[in-house]
Amino acid sequence: MKSLRARLLISFTALLAAALTVFGVIVWLVAREAMSRDMDDVLRGKALLLGRLAPPLPLPARRLLIEPWMEQELQLQEHQVAVQMFTADGNLGGKSSNLRIDMPLTETARHSYHPAGGVELETLAVGGREWRVATHPRRERWGEPVVFYAQAVMPLDALDARGYRLLVWLVGGGAVMLCAVAATAWFLSRQWLRSISSLEEAARGLSTSELGIRRLFVPSDDAELAALASSFNHLLDRLETAHTTQQRFTADASHELRTPLTVLRGEIEVALRKPRTTEEYREVLVSNKEEIERLSRLTENMLALAHVDVGDAITQRELVNVSEVCSTVINRLQNLAAERQMIIQHEDTTTEPLSVNGDRVALERVIFNLVENAVRYSPTGENVTVRVSKTTPWIEIQIIDTGGGIAPEHLPHLFERFYRVDKARSRTHGGSGLGLSIVKALVEAHGGSVSVSSEVGHGSTFTVRLPAA
Ligand code: ADP
Repeated sequence: MKSLRARLLISFTALLAAALTVFGVIVWLVAREAMSRDMDDVLRGKALLLGRLAPPLPLPARRLLIEPWMEQELQLQEHQVAVQMFTADGNLGGKSSNLRIDMPLTETARHSYHPAGGVELETLAVGGREWRVATHPRRERWGEPVVFYAQAVMPLDALDARGYRLLVWLVGGGAVMLCAVAATAWFLSRQWLRSISSLEEAARGLSTSELGIRRLFVPSDDAELAALASSFNHLLDRLETAHTTQQRFTADASHELRTPLTVLRGEIEVALRKPRTTEEYREVLVSNKEEIERLSRLTENMLALAHVDVGDAITQRELVNVSEVCSTVINRLQNLAAERQMIIQHEDTTTEPLSVNGDRVALERVIFNLVENAVRYSPTGENVTVRVSKTTPWIEIQIIDTGGGIAPEHLPHLFERFYRVDKARSRTHGGSGLGLSIVKALVEAHGGSVSVSSEVGHGSTFTVRLPAA
């Protein structure tokens, strides 16, 4: 696995190499062009100068000598230029001492028309080499016949040698530059990535016990790292919440389990202290059964919550008619209501079938818990209404009771696990404080929401909203 740093460096260096290559090719092409233009300028200059140095009389070929002082004046050595002269008839006269071959006077050069004494430039292949040749027809005056031809020549490979030197410089310089930049980038990237490493170290150093206390340092001078550190801290926050919730749940669950077990043990121990009548044993057993039923309900509720937590509370989805679900639940609770001299009313605000896409068993559990609470926590003789209505796109189920209501300070915690308003009283009612948290979890698993409004002395209304099918 390649590190981020190595990947950055490789891509950066490859890009730089490509850029340098393109740049180098352009420089080389432009330089070549300039060099060959330079060469032509030098040749033109030498041919013209030679024309001026030689005596301007129509002389025979043997008198057209290039004397050493002329060579000096022309500075031939310096530019690798050689010169020679031809008579007006095209016969070779003298040539400079550095010219070993016979360079011909081409017909083109000879008949080129330069009335004021210009220069004809050509490229010729002579003696296995290519030459650049500048020929200047020397005239006495403008438009007069040619007196002689002054010629300056230079091998083209002189240009190649210069081009090659430039190429070496370009390639060498480019390579050195690339290495230098890569090394600097490697060094700098360590500085830049140091913050990431320190972040990683800090994260690794965090132990579970420090979840609630320590957070990563958010650097102020680095936007990306600051974003990374703060989203990591957000994650820690959520983790901490989940961790504490889980810890609290375990603690509450053990506490809830311990209470009925202690009661059971106490009753049995007392019963066993001395021999009892059948009637006394029977009483103990009946009481034990109640505690065991409470334990069963508790474990059943905990299991239900565990299912919701792992996300398999909804086993199957089907079209469920909400009014039907409410009727079933009300029927099941008729006995309890009768015991408490209460009537559960069912109101449908519309005649159209109100259906949701969900799990029938889960939805029955939701409505059951809410209606059962309304019946249990209201004084005898009060009334409970279950109202089903549609407020697009939701189907709303309201469980309204005229009971004692719930004080405002409890409302925000009502849906928390194991939360009970009146701990002592709830126990006699058999509640463990899990009913509403199961309602909330199941409703949310259906994509809905549940809320409560309550007024002490006037009653409570629980509203469940489910997305209409
Ligand atoms: P439990 O299993 O104790 O009933 P719930 O989660 O169902 O737990 O309810 C939490 C608490 O909310 C109950 O202990 C009760 O005090 C209060 N409560 C719930 N519904 C009502 C209601 N309709 N009227 C008054 N109090 C209620």
